[in-house]
Amino acid sequence: MFKQSIIQGSCGCGQWQVNVRVDRPIDDLNPRICDCDYCRAYPSAIISDPSMEIDLTGGEFTFDQNGDRLAKFYRCKSCGDLLAVGCFIEDVLRGAVSSSLFGENYRFGEPLHIQPWLLSSKERLKRWGKLWGMLNGIEKT
Ligand SMILES: [Zn+2]
Ligand SMILES: [Zn+2]
Repeated sequence: MFKQSIIQGSCGCGQWQVNVRVDRPIDDLNPRICDCDYCRAYPSAIISDPSMEIDLTGGEFTFDQNGDRLAKFYRCKSCGDLLAVGCFIEDVLRGAVSSSLFGENYRFGEPLHIQPWLLSSKERLKRWGKLWGMLNGIEKT
């Protein structure tokens, strides 16, 4: 029976380490590429699963927020790499992790293109609540 996948990576400069545990095979995780203006300007792909525990350890971060400012895009302060996208849902920081932190070490599923702006803010929060994992080690309420 399948138990748990563990994937590990770091940002480009190595200041941030990420350790992810997820109750799913790695090739079952589809990197999601958002087609909004912000994400086209700063290309990224994120992976998540409701069973995912994303543990970030490292130094300093910055973040930006796009559009309706619902989610935060956390970046390494030193190299600028995207670490994760997160949002407080019922006081818990939930999120999705940037798949580029893992280099070529893992074979993820096929990338999916998403158009989250087609959903209202309320619908998006609901969707993230079902899709995103726990984002630990970066920010508290
Ligand atoms: Zn870095
Ligand atoms: Zn986007």
